[in-house]
Amino acid sequence: MLEFIDICKRFRHKTVADRISLNIPSGSITAVLGGSGSGKSTLLNIAAGLLKPDNGSVFLHGKCIDHIAAENRGIAMMFQDVALLPHLNVWQNAAFGLQMRGIDKHSARRRVEPLLEEIGLHHMAEHPVSHLSGGEQQRVALARSLAYQPQALLLDEPFSALDTVLRGQLQQQVKNLVRERNIPAILVTHSPQEACLTAEYVALLHNGRIIQRDTPANILRTPACADAAKLMGCLNVSESCYIPPEAIHINHAQGSTCEILNAVKLPELWQLHIRHHQYGNLTGFHREAVHETMCRVWIDNTQIVHWPSPQHSF
Ligand code: ADP
Ligand code: MG
Repeated sequence: MLEFIDICKRFRHKTVADRISLNIPSGSITAVLGGSGSGKSTLLNIAAGLLKPDNGSVFLHGKCIDHIAAENRGIAMMFQDVALLPHLNVWQNAAFGLQMRGIDKHSARRRVEPLLEEIGLHHMAEHPVSHLSGGEQQRVALARSLAYQPQALLLDEPFSALDTVLRGQLQQQVKNLVRERNIPAILVTHSPQEACLTAEYVALLHNGRIIQRDTPANILRTPACADAAKLMGCLNVSESCYIPPEAIHINHAQGSTCEILNAVKLPELWQLHIRHHQYGNLTGFHREAVHETMCRVWIDNTQIVHWPSPQHSF
């Protein structure tokens, strides 16, 4: 397990980490989801030992690692920029970290071969990395990160530049490798889709604080506040409540009459923007096309998530 305890970090007047405590269990990925500039990379750099927090500690497998230098922490990091060595081939790049640690060429090659096989690059072992596609280069970087058996894996938006299909494959491969090796992993991302697809847990970072940490399904069902719902990309969010799309029933006999603002055809559904007399503009989904300009909308109040009203001070 990787643990952040009471981490604080300020840059001039900006508090980037405000007493962050977070557990990352072994064998699973925790996505840290936050907007641009919210402090995601700062948190990873603190775990990796590249940045010193103003306060707080980091523990790895029960041991405080605050005073251990970055290169001795046994924590691997992966970035969007793969930074492979262009004059080396695939296996040499994957084995680079091992050779830097004094492991001879033949042993290093033997160690990276099963890893290359697992990520589907075995047949390309001798290819120069400059001939590889972006996705293949990311896989070499993944093999390089995992070759020396790290105790934790930190991923800083490594898949952002890849197309959807490649991204999905790599997300799945990382997920399998993290599970097999039983190491804790953090995936930093600004994409709720990526967080939900890849991670077992999601931690939402907003204004230097973790505002919610749970499974993606639990957060989507009951976001803790409007900011949490917005970070997860939820629709129908106001400062007082969240109306899940499944609570909105279009053309329901008991429904109240609403104006249809527009309708968009999705692969298996129609997405409707409607104006509701009580809740204002809402997005709902319906299986069939609605040809009229009005429809009857029933909202299942039991599914609405209400947040405590903001405290007013007088
Ligand atoms: P994210 O990865 O979520 O986009 P970062 O952790 O990189 O955000 O940065 C968070 C905030 O801290 C940003 O406003 C950034 O400008 C600021 N910041 C990051 N590193 C430094 C630094 N070394 N000196 C001053 N400000 C920094
Ligand atoms: Mg960043």
